[in-house]
Amino acid sequence: MADHVFEQSTMCVHRAGASTEGFQSFSTPVYRASTIVFPNAQSYRDRSLRFPDGYSYGLMGTPTTRSLEEQLTRLAGGVRSVLVPSGQAAVSALMLTLLSQGDHVLIPDNVYPPVKQFSQEVLQRYGVAVDIYDPMNLQSLRSSIRIGRTKLIWIEAPGSTTMEVCDTRAIVSIAKENGVLTGCDNTWATSLFCKPISLGVDVVAEALTKYVGGHSDLLLGALSFASMDLYLQVKEQLANLGVGVSPDDCSLALRGIETMSLRLAHVGSTALAFAQRLKDRPGIARVIHPALPKSPGHEFWKRDFQGSTGVFSVQLQVHDTALVDRALGRLELFAIGASWGGTRSLVAPMSLDGQRSFGTSGSTSMYLRFSVGLESPLDLWRDIELMLSAF
Ligand SMILES: *Cc1c(COP(=O)(O)O)cnc(C)c1O
Repeated sequence: MADHVFEQSTMCVHRAGASTEGFQSFSTPVYRASTIVFPNAQSYRDRSLRFPDGYSYGLMGTPTTRSLEEQLTRLAGGVRSVLVPSGQAAVSALMLTLLSQGDHVLIPDNVYPPVKQFSQEVLQRYGVAVDIYDPMNLQSLRSSIRIGRTKLIWIEAPGSTTMEVCDTRAIVSIAKENGVLTGCDNTWATSLFCKPISLGVDVVAEALTKYVGGHSDLLLGALSFASMDLYLQVKEQLANLGVGVSPDDCSLALRGIETMSLRLAHVGSTALAFAQRLKDRPGIARVIHPALPKSPGHEFWKRDFQGSTGVFSVQLQVHDTALVDRALGRLELFAIGASWGGTRSLVAPMSLDGQRSFGTSGSTSMYLRFSVGLESPLDLWRDIELMLSAF
């Protein structure tokens, strides 16, 4: 048998493979797989025993995806993580796991808008009751809890566009008193600047699309868990839904993480300097940046966060869309677009029209959301001055 020479077509399929002996590199190999090969029939028959940490099917993980999960778990201070195709999928997969017909979920008013839409368009259709709560008014949160029915309080700090930092510890304690789980979207801070699990949150979502990817060319999301029990529920749900991620994308995320602390330090200090300088400029009603003392929830940012990143908002004095468009048209370096966290600076005009249930006084205002990138701060400030000259 050993001397048997296979036909060419067989040789095409069965590669000899190069030796990895003596090969050491810093990169994590991209292991792609649908099929996982088992050493014998018995071990194939017992493959379900490999759940959750062993390898049984490519959709459930390869060494590349597990490397990224392990790194995220360590940074988040959790027990395990799962990967999904986007930040939005992280939130929706979690909610589809935890919530059943008859349950009730509480969503903050300043949540990433597609999450509000998901809860109202999908969860409600499946018989889950959804209430929007004011994250800065915990008395109202407390009274919104339906004993026995509320299963999850969602948290996002800082909130989208209006950047309020809520009192996560107090929300967690209200939740625990009532036997309710908490989950938190930590995309703005990343695990480097906030560890919600250490504040008592049960599960943390992050859009790796943003700072982990870091180059505006990747869509990926993660959930990191405080307990094995929750992790196992979500892992099984992902198998049921058939949701997995590409090892190629994970290898980009693994590369992105290596430079994340440097990128965040740079965009964090540049964004804060810009926020301070913008405070007293014409056309600007208010700068909202969690590290500025007048920003809502600044005291909770100081208590719970170890830094600030490159995204902040300004509320404009003007209500004239044409004027805002002219101002944005003067920008040469800031590009106009969403999905921040890359190397390029972005600005996005935001309106809260009809989107908020609380704090509606400012809801007719126009906002600009800045995401500072890695260009020279001198050039970027010149660009902002060009824009401001339109006001
Ligand atoms: C971008 C973002 C998401 C969604 O991430 P995608 O990967 O684009 O789906 C969720 N939450 C927050 C706070 C975000 O900024």
